[in-house]
Amino acid sequence: MENCIFCKIANGEIPTSLVYEDDLVAAFNDLEPQAPVHILIVPKEHISSALELTEQNSSVVAHIFEVAAKIARDMGFDKTGFRLVNNCGEDGGQTVQHLHFHLLAGRGLQWLPG
Ligand code: 5GP
Ligand code: ZN
Repeated sequence: MENCIFCKIANGEIPTSLVYEDDLVAAFNDLEPQAPVHILIVPKEHISSALELTEQNSSVVAHIFEVAAKIARDMGFDKTGFRLVNNCGEDGGQTVQHLHFHLLAGRGLQWLPG
């Protein structure tokens, strides 16, 4: 997808230090962290939002949850916990139109984040 910032980060067009990468997903630090750990996990395939998930492409979401658990264990916050959240659409606070999950950790998180 042209002019999609997360496609460009995920395919290496914009050089970014990746926290994790495999054939299906890339994970990198958020530009404006809201917690000591604030990582974005995105599919390499362009999917605009959770509304674009189908029977054909939705398995990547399960994979993203697996990757979040792996990152938590690797970075050592599996014991203290984390939040994995997706914002969808205007009221959901989605500002980048490429499916992404925020992995937040390193402090107690209030419900709901602002
Ligand atoms: P949303 O509001 O769509 O759920 O989350 C978008 C997130 O992407 C925000 O937390 C924002 O800080 C982050 N972000 C926007 N542009 C960039 C960028 O170019 N690089 C990185 N690393 N994060 C970005
Ligand atoms: Zn994209």
